[in-house]
Amino acid sequence: MNDHQLLRYSRHILLEEFGIDGQARVSAGRVLVIGAGGLGSPVALYLAAAGVGRIVLVDDDEVDLTNLQRQVAHTHARVGLQKVESAAQAMRDINPEISIETHALRADEALLSRLVAEADVVVDCCDNFATRHAVNRACVAAKTPLVSGAAIRFDGQIAVFDPRDPRSPCYHCLFGEGEALEETRCAVMGVFAPIVGIVGATQAAEALKVLGGVGESLAGRLLLLDALTMRWREVRVTRDPACPVCAGT
Ligand SMILES: [Zn+2]
Repeated sequence: MNDHQLLRYSRHILLEEFGIDGQARVSAGRVLVIGAGGLGSPVALYLAAAGVGRIVLVDDDEVDLTNLQRQVAHTHARVGLQKVESAAQAMRDINPEISIETHALRADEALLSRLVAEADVVVDCCDNFATRHAVNRACVAAKTPLVSGAAIRFDGQIAVFDPRDPRSPCYHCLFGEGEALEETRCAVMGVFAPIVGIVGATQAAEALKVLGGVGESLAGRLLLLDALTMRWREVRVTRDPACPVCAGT
């Protein structure tokens, strides 16, 4: 790390749990972020600010006026631009020294298997179950840790699925497939603006901890937030021995 980088990341380096070694691991890290919306905005901004060496963003959507109430990486002037381009601009404004790769594409199986294989950590910030399950399958296959988050109305949830740990469940162990009905309902529901910030910032924290080798990750625990009462709940989660995705891996 040069003098300039030592200064830029000095508040991380001052953390004894983090130090120069933790920051060096973050700076050498490669993170894949699926979705550049409500959750993806804080994730992308914090990972860029923290100096993650290479950040890959995937989202096929464009910035829309209705996004601006909560998707803080985007601006009024960038309505109509691809979300990945808008977010990349915001990230470069904060930290021009990292490498950012954007894909304005839907995260399908082929793209995911290639991008997940190149990532140290995957952060799932997408808004639909089909993509969540596809991301999970790719992470289990590549044995790449997955930081998962979701937020709707006043409710948030966060979990880490770490296929390198034989006790850690995968996303499918907790959430089965075939919830299309639930999905159509979710698409028309309200979202309390800061809930995506709280969940997204927590996802960024978990991704940086996994990359930096700091502390204890959320693997094996599911965090649930009810922002109406601001109460958090923690649920222990275990691997489903009959899970069609991760059993026997
Ligand atoms: Zn599983």
